[in-house]
Amino acid sequence: MKEKLALLGGNPVRRNSYSVHTTMIDSSEEEEVLAVLRSGHLSGFSARPGERFLGGPNVRRLEKDFAEYFGVDYAISFNSATSGLHSAISAAQIGPGDEVIVPPTTMSATASCVLMQNAIPVFADIEDETFGLDPDSVEAAITPYTKAILTVNLFGHPSRLEELKSIADRHNLLLIEDNAQSPGAKCDGRLAGTFGEMGVQSLNYHKTIQTGEGGVVLTNSKRTAEHLHLVRNHGEVVVGHSDQYSDIDLTNLLGWNYRLSEIQAAIGIHQLRKLDGLNELRIRLADLLSEELRDYDFLASPIVRPNCSHVYYLYPLRFFRERIGISREIFVKAMIAEGISISQGYVRPIYLEPMYQKRIAYGTRGCPFRCPWYKGMTSYETGLCPTAERLHFQEIIVTDICKYPNTKKEVEEFVYAVQKISHNLFELRKLED
Ligand SMILES: *Cc1c(COP(=O)(O)O)cnc(C)c1O
Repeated sequence: MKEKLALLGGNPVRRNSYSVHTTMIDSSEEEEVLAVLRSGHLSGFSARPGERFLGGPNVRRLEKDFAEYFGVDYAISFNSATSGLHSAISAAQIGPGDEVIVPPTTMSATASCVLMQNAIPVFADIEDETFGLDPDSVEAAITPYTKAILTVNLFGHPSRLEELKSIADRHNLLLIEDNAQSPGAKCDGRLAGTFGEMGVQSLNYHKTIQTGEGGVVLTNSKRTAEHLHLVRNHGEVVVGHSDQYSDIDLTNLLGWNYRLSEIQAAIGIHQLRKLDGLNELRIRLADLLSEELRDYDFLASPIVRPNCSHVYYLYPLRFFRERIGISREIFVKAMIAEGISISQGYVRPIYLEPMYQKRIAYGTRGCPFRCPWYKGMTSYETGLCPTAERLHFQEIIVTDICKYPNTKKEVEEFVYAVQKISHNLFELRKLED
């Protein structure tokens, strides 16, 4: 039996749109938020030396809970992962003239947080297995100006953290993890986000757990934690008035307002308790999808490395055109016509964006790229990271169906749509001509 594709006028596999309630919010968050509203203290922060410099009761509770969950000494909350990343670069004492190695396949803030500190992002390539930084490419990108490696645990799988840590140690660099997409993922029993000097979590509304907007930076270093506290809350007005921070050279430490509100923190406390359950659901759905897609050799399911876990922030597939004889574009178009949530590519390698191509960030004079303190020469040419370019422009397909509140039904629809397509290849090939 052969069913007509929706793309060619047939009935779609799925007619309804997907639920927008993709995080579990229930009475626990509602009651906690009401309590904050009724208390009148919507934020507990004050940019002055003293107790309130570190925020109100919910912010502190959230931080304590995150530190406990991740098994680290300090968790510092921020109003986004982007502000957390920027603060992490500041806390790593990175500034003009310095380079930070980053992957090109990630959300833009992973690279722009380096520019925010007037330092230079240097792109190393990613690898096919984890879609994270390729250790050999990282090693080749190290220069006398390199200060840190900022790795991303992409799509829910840890990058090669052990190898990257050992490269960082060997070259006396800091390893920082952008763990926005992989809270709860593990390698060798250890949680992603805890391998580096700092690990940055996101609580924005796209992520596995959310507070609308928010972020948390994890660290085991007291000095780093203090620096993060200062950067978050106008540190420059506290320095010199408090002996709490006397052993940090802070005369030139710029702070911002990167504070989380009490309402957001109240939500985050309950969201964290749901993380493991939400991840288990993602894993269950993703495992089912991988199992069901085994018969289709033109699609490669995500790899889970030995002793690691994947928490499937997104479910990435690699598409092999030569094995099916239609383009990725037509395949994705046909899937979308069937009502399936799917897209081709992830993000264009970041160095191809105009800011890098034109080398301007601050003002019109090319800062920080042409900053006189910068003595290096990094490339943003097309072809710089061939694996990242191939994966984005030719192979990667992502779907976000493996998450709350979806069930087996959504996975089966996905597989059914793939099956429909594979029964109609003759018709689809004709569309290519
Ligand atoms: C979402 C995301 C961020 C930014 O998170 P915000 O909380 O929105 O600032 C950074 N890096 C990666 C990899 C992300 O997925």
